[in-house]
Amino acid sequence: MRDLFDETKTIMKKYGIKANKDLGQNFLINNEVVENIIKSSDVSKEDLIIEIGPGLGTLTKRLLENAGKVICIELDKKMIKILNDRFGNYSNFEIINDDVLKVDLNKIIKENLNNNIKKAKIVANLPYYITTPIIMKLLEDKLDIDSIVVMIQKEVAERLIETPGGKNTGAITHTIFYYCESEKVMEVPNSSFIPEPEVTSEVIKMKLRKKPAVELDNPKVMFMIIKSAFMQRRKTLLNSLTNAQVFTNKQEGLEILKKLNLEENVRAENLKLEDYANIAREIEK
Ligand code: SAM
Repeated sequence: MRDLFDETKTIMKKYGIKANKDLGQNFLINNEVVENIIKSSDVSKEDLIIEIGPGLGTLTKRLLENAGKVICIELDKKMIKILNDRFGNYSNFEIINDDVLKVDLNKIIKENLNNNIKKAKIVANLPYYITTPIIMKLLEDKLDIDSIVVMIQKEVAERLIETPGGKNTGAITHTIFYYCESEKVMEVPNSSFIPEPEVTSEVIKMKLRKKPAVELDNPKVMFMIIKSAFMQRRKTLLNSLTNAQVFTNKQEGLEILKKLNLEENVRAENLKLEDYANIAREIEK
């Protein structure tokens, strides 16, 4: 940890860098965490790694040593100069100075996969202020990617890797489960960063499923139902979906719940993804 601490401090001093809170800058200084991220991403010379928010380049360095190609996407111009100085001589390094939410990742992946670089993977110590939009973009853009390994706040991580129906279930739990098999890699103490964040962090891995967890002609309807159910999660599912006009009226709702063997007073968090898929199928009839 001392080595990365010293290296990070030296780079920050050399370039006059103060961590920008608004950009979620917390630089990783824990070598064990870096190595665990590399290991759980299973990085090989056949991989294209897209690193979101490389910052000073702590993860980038190890990625460049292990991957076929590394494309970094960083919003902060100050970091671009540092990254180019550090890694400009690596032939497998590329950097894009932009907001990751505005970048056409599909295009980048298509342009870079070939006979030698066969799989695309996402690796990131994410800026926490936009964790959810970034993850939603990675999934909803239907990218040709193998896996996503990210460091995020522990609290969010627990919702993402929960099995639908478990105690940490939120609407996003279902979205992740639909697209991925997810698991915890490790918990990361606050002392692993400069500056220390106020929240505990966790590294998680999301492996993209070959086929979604449930088959539906129009998954958008199911996601709309899930969103409506969790918007009023204290209410019964019957009431929240009737209020949101997913069910035309309570009677129709009761009939659908009965048909699907769901209790009348069931709540959003008690349902499995398959239950929501079944409600969507009934609604679409
Ligand atoms: N990867 C570095 C590390 O582990 O030390 C830095 C991680 S820091 C938590 C998040 C990084 O994301 C910062 O470098 C920040 O400038 C960058 N960032 C913030 N918002 C971004 C955005 N919208 N698009 C791309 N990068 C962003």
